[in-house]
Amino acid sequence: MPEQPQISATLKEYFGYDSFRPLQQEIIDSIFAGNDNLAIMPTGGGKSICYQLPAILLPGITLVISPLIALMKDQVDGLRANGIKAAFINSSQTENEQQSIYQSLLDKQIKLLYLAPESLSFTDAIVSQIEISLIAIDEAHCISAWGHDFRPAYTQLGYLKNKHPKTPLIALTATADKATRQDICDQLNISNATQHLASFDRKNLSLEVRPGNKRIEQILNFLEDKSKDSGIIYCLSRKTTETLAEKLRNQGYKAEAYHAGVAHEKRAKVQEDFINDTIQIVCATIAFGMGIDKSNVRWVIHYNLPKNIEGYYQEIGRAGRDGLPSYTLLFHSYADVVQLQKFADMSGNKEVQLAKLDRMKQYAESLSCRRKILLSYFGELIEKDCGNCDVCLDPPTFIDGTIIAQKALSTVSRIKEQEPIGTVIDVLRGAQNVAVYDRGYQHLKTYGIGADISWRDWQQYMIQLINQGYLEIAFHQKNKLKLTKRSKKVLFNNEKVRLSHVKEFEKITAAHIEHSKKSKSDTLFDTLRELRLKLAKEAGIPAYQIFNDATLREMEQHKPTTDEEFMQISGVGKQKMQNYGYQFIKTILEYSTKKTKKASQNKGNTLKETLALYKQGLSIEEIASQRKLATSTIFSHIMKLYDDKEDIDLSTFVSKEDIKVVQKAKEELNQPDGLKPYFEYFEGSIDYNTIKLALTILKNEKTE
Ligand code: ADP
Ligand code: ZN
Repeated sequence: MPEQPQISATLKEYFGYDSFRPLQQEIIDSIFAGNDNLAIMPTGGGKSICYQLPAILLPGITLVISPLIALMKDQVDGLRANGIKAAFINSSQTENEQQSIYQSLLDKQIKLLYLAPESLSFTDAIVSQIEISLIAIDEAHCISAWGHDFRPAYTQLGYLKNKHPKTPLIALTATADKATRQDICDQLNISNATQHLASFDRKNLSLEVRPGNKRIEQILNFLEDKSKDSGIIYCLSRKTTETLAEKLRNQGYKAEAYHAGVAHEKRAKVQEDFINDTIQIVCATIAFGMGIDKSNVRWVIHYNLPKNIEGYYQEIGRAGRDGLPSYTLLFHSYADVVQLQKFADMSGNKEVQLAKLDRMKQYAESLSCRRKILLSYFGELIEKDCGNCDVCLDPPTFIDGTIIAQKALSTVSRIKEQEPIGTVIDVLRGAQNVAVYDRGYQHLKTYGIGADISWRDWQQYMIQLINQGYLEIAFHQKNKLKLTKRSKKVLFNNEKVRLSHVKEFEKITAAHIEHSKKSKSDTLFDTLRELRLKLAKEAGIPAYQIFNDATLREMEQHKPTTDEEFMQISGVGKQKMQNYGYQFIKTILEYSTKKTKKASQNKGNTLKETLALYKQGLSIEEIASQRKLATSTIFSHIMKLYDDKEDIDLSTFVSKEDIKVVQKAKEELNQPDGLKPYFEYFEGSIDYNTIKLALTILKNEKTE
């Protein structure tokens, strides 16, 4: 079993992190102790490292069973970007590709092998010949018919433990449901598994609920300060996703619709563009998300009320996987409730569905800390209010609502409980429309007695009256409002009614304002983000796999300009330092020279010093040792000086031999775009920096 220092060093070297998230260490220790494990963590909790880190240190191969073929390539690319040998086998590959992976497996050139459950049978012969040190089953709830994503192919996975009784197996899921948990262990034959249940509290997600009036306006308002941040808007219907996306495009946002009716290729394209940050907003039905492993989704909006809290939590969980503050906004409208009630009525298990919808409604209408309600749903109690939901940030103030209630209830009584909320409000406000005149409501005694309160506020008060049991909606009778026992007490026994003051929702909450200030001023972050996108395109991987947003934020804050400083940033491991370090350092230097005068002097000076030593004929290594800086720092200085058109002869930094082989590669590969094809051609034996240098030299030779 590896010692603690080795485990920590591996975490830093391969993943770039200095410390574990809750439960990661415990799970990893348990794997090394040879136990079977069941890990339950919320989306974004950091499940992958729990098996990826042991995989690096264990002698044999780690088999990872994962349900989504579309995700495998991403996961494997991400591992490779960290310098971890990984591969996948699935039906999308040619026989040749598969053969070459088989060979690498036999040659022990692979540490993690990703497989879809469907591929297990045809890979069995090969898998039998290799040493398996660990089996990881991702999205393990797919095995259970109790869960929400049942996949028949998962049910055969039970044989894995029988076949490899001594190999530790770990099942991972974000489903907290107890019945599903038990079912997973039973079916995988790991009844003695150690269970690790992480907190479901995602503290970095702010929670906000607003009434669903003028939603488009509110969304545009919300987006004003999020010009570049990625987000998802979940809608109930396909049509809404289409119209909403179009409206957003008309306002200049890069938005696309995504639902099951969109052609397969188009859907794949939307997903890819979203992952690569070329589309900013996806307006989607629930069909979108399962395949999305994107760590920098900064906000999630629910245009409509979700039908239960599980779904809602999973969807907002797609925001902020990188741990940075992220925003969620839920629109609550009674029309949605009515609609969902109908769906529930028609469904097989009506009672359960209605009960779940009820909990969702309670959450949306809560006048106390929302996170408390959310977590209590998952069986978790928090002592203190969270301080990061709209209720905590702007607690309701209560007013004596007795007169408001009396006006409303007597109106309902006078129209003989024959109208839905909207018409009741019309009568209260003295509206002059068909609904009122047709039935002669303008002659009622209460007509117009509530004209001093806006339509929108009335709606909120009505909802509060319903929640407190003073009114009921008859869902089976066209949603007519009905009086209750309790309403009689108000009308006839002077019972006092407490209502919460209706908030001004156009006003954005403190958290948003703070966020907006930040995102407007942080141009170094934007510059780093642009660099990341460029590098991602060159390497042919999603942007967040270069570095995630949290890492870029840290660079922005600490502005590392030496290798040592750069290595200190969370998320920077060895491989990424080598591949991208100098380019980021160079960009930070450039930014500093441009932006701050003071910094410009300092950084300018450091460049001047390097230049002076260079002119004395010193090599990069010599300059580095004289200046007590890392060689790659000096390298980035040199590249910067070259870009600044200083008299730098790049050919002194690359051997003729290297230039020659790069030239040969260039011809053989037919002048490919980007650096990745070269890097792969050389199988990593020549680093990105050298390739880049050689190509720059070759290019300039031609123009001269
Ligand atoms: P899950 O599969 O549970 O949804 P992931 O494994 O995808 O979560 O991890 C979510 C994000 O958190 C990733 O961007 C990952 O790099 C990051 N992460 C994981 N562990 C740590 C850690 N110890 N420190 C910092 N970031 C981490
Ligand atoms: Zn709260």
